[in-house]
Parts: sequence; C-alpha cells; structure tokens
Amino acid sequence: MKNGLPDAIDVVEAKTSKIDAVDFENLVFGNVFTDHMMICDYVNGEWQNPVIKPYGPIELEPSAKVFHYGQAIFEGMKAFKDDQDQVWLFRPEDNFNRFNKSSVRLAIPEFPKEFFFEGLETLLNLDRDWIKKGFGNSLYIRPFVIATESGVSASPSKSYKFMIICSPAKAYYSGEVRVVFAEKFSRAADGGVGYAKAAGNYGAQFYPTNLAKEEGYQQIVWTDANTHEYLEEAGTMNIFFRVGDKLLTAPTSDRILDGVTRKSVITLAEEHGIPVEVRRVKVQEIVEAAEKGELKEIFGAGTAATINPVKGFGHQGKKFELPELEDSYATFFKKELMNIQYNKSEDKYGWRY
Ligand code: PMP
Repeated sequence: MKNGLPDAIDVVEAKTSKIDAVDFENLVFGNVFTDHMMICDYVNGEWQNPVIKPYGPIELEPSAKVFHYGQAIFEGMKAFKDDQDQVWLFRPEDNFNRFNKSSVRLAIPEFPKEFFFEGLETLLNLDRDWIKKGFGNSLYIRPFVIATESGVSASPSKSYKFMIICSPAKAYYSGEVRVVFAEKFSRAADGGVGYAKAAGNYGAQFYPTNLAKEEGYQQIVWTDANTHEYLEEAGTMNIFFRVGDKLLTAPTSDRILDGVTRKSVITLAEEHGIPVEVRRVKVQEIVEAAEKGELKEIFGAGTAATINPVKGFGHQGKKFELPELEDSYATFFKKELMNIQYNKSEDKYGWRY
C-alpha cells in the first residue's frame, strides 16, 4: 500500500461463468452469487492488497473469533443498469461511511475508502453482465468483514477478512406485509449496537420474528427497549407512518440504523411539500389514529425493497388493517427513488454514482 492506495488489485478471473445456468426471471432474493468476489485481509496491523477472484468457499480455523464472539459487520447496497447499459450505485459513500462506523463500534479496523471503491468498481466491471436492465432488476452488493484470528479468548481479533459478494435481484416483492409492534423483546438498547450493522443484531431477531410469524405477522416493528412506548424501526427497514397527510418517522439514535433510503425519503418529502415530522412516535398515537381512521399508511424504507408498504399491524392482541390508497405515499416515493436509481430522472442531489 502507498499513500492509502492499493499497489494493484490482483484479479484472478473465473475460467467459466455460471451466468447461463441462472434463471433471472425467478430469482429468490440473496440466493445466487456472481462469478467473482473481493477479498482483502488485515494482518500485521495493515490492510493488504485486495484480491478479486472466483466466488467460492473460504477456509477459516474453527477457533476464528468471528464464530465465538460475533465480531462481524456488513453493508447492503445495490447497483442498477440504465437503458444505455450504464451501471449506477445509489449513495454508496453513505454505505461506506456507515460500514466504518459499524466497524469502529465492533473494534474492527476501519477499511480504506480507496480500496473499497477501486475494488468495488473492478468487481462490478467483471460481473457487469449479472446486472440486468429493466425497472426492478438490480445487483445486491454485500460488503462485510469478519474477525479471523484463531483463539477463544474474548478479545478483539488481530486479523480480519473484508469481502464483497454480489447477488442478482429481481424487483423485491415480499408478499403482503403485516407487522406487530414489539411488546416484550427488544432489538437495541441505549449505548448498544443498534446503529451498527452488526451481524448479531440480525441473528437476535430471528427468534422473536418466528414467534411473530406464528401470529400471522411477517415482521416486527421494534419499540424502545425501556418502555415499549415508542416505535423505532423494523428488522431491515426504517419505518414511516402517514397520519392524515403527515409523515412521521423516528429520529436516528444509537439504537436505530441511519438508513440511506430513510434519509432519501425525508429529502424527497421536503422537496415535494409532504409534511414530514422526524420525532419520537408513540405506539398509542398510531393505535388511536388507526381507530379514528386517520392512519393512512405504514411503509418500510430500505435497500432491499426500496419502499415496502405495510398492509396491517398488530398491537396487544388487536389487529388493524390499513386502507388501499389511490394516492399512496409509498408508491410515490418508490417511483421517485427508482427513477433516480435507474437514471430516468434528474439527479438533483448527486445521489447517483
Ligand atoms: N434498519 C435496519 C436495521 C437495516 O438493516 C436496514 C438495511 N440496511 C435499514 C434500516 C435500511 O437501511 P438502508 O436504507 O440504508 O438500506
């Protein structure tokens, strides 16, 4: 490494491509991976030169610290192809910055920006054919880092592996989503790791989410851990409530992920004169609004689905259904965001990369 720049990115190309065996019409989210991956090791106090090589298994000691102490973080972003075959990323610097913010919280060394972007561009150029044109098609990009040092003492690892893997995605349709407001379990606590994309934040949600599924809900909207009185975010999405014509969403904090989609929605709402209040949202006010017929919409905002409308919610054993709207904000924001992502509208805010 010289001046923070990789000397060169080593590229080992796959001898054959797997692409012809892939049914792009029937992709299940996150199940198929492209031909190549990026790897960069941290040893002797330094990130080594990145390598791009065929996607495949990696070898780790059973004592690698990631398996024992969960020292692992990740990101999720997408690449889109426009009608002229140009490939675009959406606000990737925000993902990069959040990646390092998560790393710092997990005592993982920060990753150099030049490595991230040079590696990502080289990787996407190699696997360009995996990014299909057309609204809804995208390539989901998963950068992550894991602690690789061997040893079962509970202390931070001295070695790490940074990787990027990519998975082609179709328009994400998650089916009808009904959510339940958390009353017992919590996702994040004050002073904890909620704002980080720590692997363990996700694993810890599977059990309560399974219980919610048994009750007919696909996802949980997490509430504050102290009182369960305030609505925070869903498992992989920030959450918005439309009461009358007003949009409400919780402020980010050390418990809530600072979502790229969330802040883009807030900017677009302000631009289009949609009143948006970023403040703590009480469970009770949403339940009351629903009872009075003033709760028009709930939707999630996140990279995977962009905007995910919610059909109904549950609270203290009661179920509420939301109306079907002609002029839904969810539809509006989804279209606005996708037009920017697919280079179909002006990029006023410099979000395309
Ligand atoms: N909250 C959580 C917990 C998430 O995992 C995600 C997905 N990254 C989001 C919100 C949405 O963030 P973004 O819009 O940056 O994808």
